[in-house]
Amino acid sequence: MARPTEAIIDRQALRDNLALVQTLAADGKTMPMVKANAYGHGAIEVSKALSDVAPAFGVACIEEALVLRDVGIKQPILLLEGTFSADEVSIAAENNFWLMVENDKQKNALLRSSLKQPINIWLGVDTGMHRLGFNSNSINKHYRDLSSSNNVANNIVLASHFSCADNIGNPHTRRQIDYFQQCLSTLDNSFGRKTDWSLANSAAVLAWPETHGSWQRPGYMIYGNSPFNEPQHQAAKLTPAMTFQSAVISIREIDAGESVGYTANWTAKRRSTIATITAGYGDGYPRQAPNGTPVLINGHRCPLVGRVSMDMIT
Ligand SMILES: *Cc1c(COP(=O)(O)O)cnc(C)c1O
Repeated sequence: MARPTEAIIDRQALRDNLALVQTLAADGKTMPMVKANAYGHGAIEVSKALSDVAPAFGVACIEEALVLRDVGIKQPILLLEGTFSADEVSIAAENNFWLMVENDKQKNALLRSSLKQPINIWLGVDTGMHRLGFNSNSINKHYRDLSSSNNVANNIVLASHFSCADNIGNPHTRRQIDYFQQCLSTLDNSFGRKTDWSLANSAAVLAWPETHGSWQRPGYMIYGNSPFNEPQHQAAKLTPAMTFQSAVISIREIDAGESVGYTANWTAKRRSTIATITAGYGDGYPRQAPNGTPVLINGHRCPLVGRVSMDMIT
């Protein structure tokens, strides 16, 4: 016996979505993001399902990375926000975790550590998101300091993150790309090599081919979701990985003029059949979902009516 509310994850969909990234950005490598419990899909299961096709994984913090090591994931794991304290540097080195370096504190902690093996570093540059990353005019200096340290492996990757790539007409993305390319060519010229680089999140993988670099970092699309509000032809090829399903536990007839649920925010215009389903915001169903949100009942599209309860919808 169990409450019939389930999130079912389609492993093949995850693999198909990853393959789509690899088709769109064929010259680079694809690092699926499995942070925040793989966007709620289960980081362990998702990483295992992709472990023969993904060359590396991305997480938000070292705790998430250690969970994956514990269950036998062998790939490098990039910590997208880098370290939060200096003691994480040696743990990262021992476990082949890769580190984003986004600020002086993280950089100094890395340079001052005494490590048995060097760490792969992604150098974050702020191209306009203004959340993390170094100012671009200081990148050459940071690159030099890092690349001359024994704690840092060869092949530092230059990385940045988009703020508006899911908004296809937004000129901000173009500015971020130009800014990044300038920074990259300055680095290449100063150090006489081709620097590996990474820009693309899901929206950029799908809609901004010029952002496809040595590494792509898709999250949202791996789970089959389009990051765009409008239809987009590449996003149409994604397969949703999660089916959220439950059961109708009650059916009743109500008269026109009667209301349903907390705050009585929906009133029947005609005599109506109301089905109550055991799934609600306590299960992750959005409490803000408005009246009319479609719910499939045996494949038949029905409108959500009334407030979403903690463990029921109507
Ligand atoms: C979460 C994250 C991504 C993935 O973004 P999506 O929009 O989910 O594809 C990529 N890069 C960084 C730095 C992130 O934090």
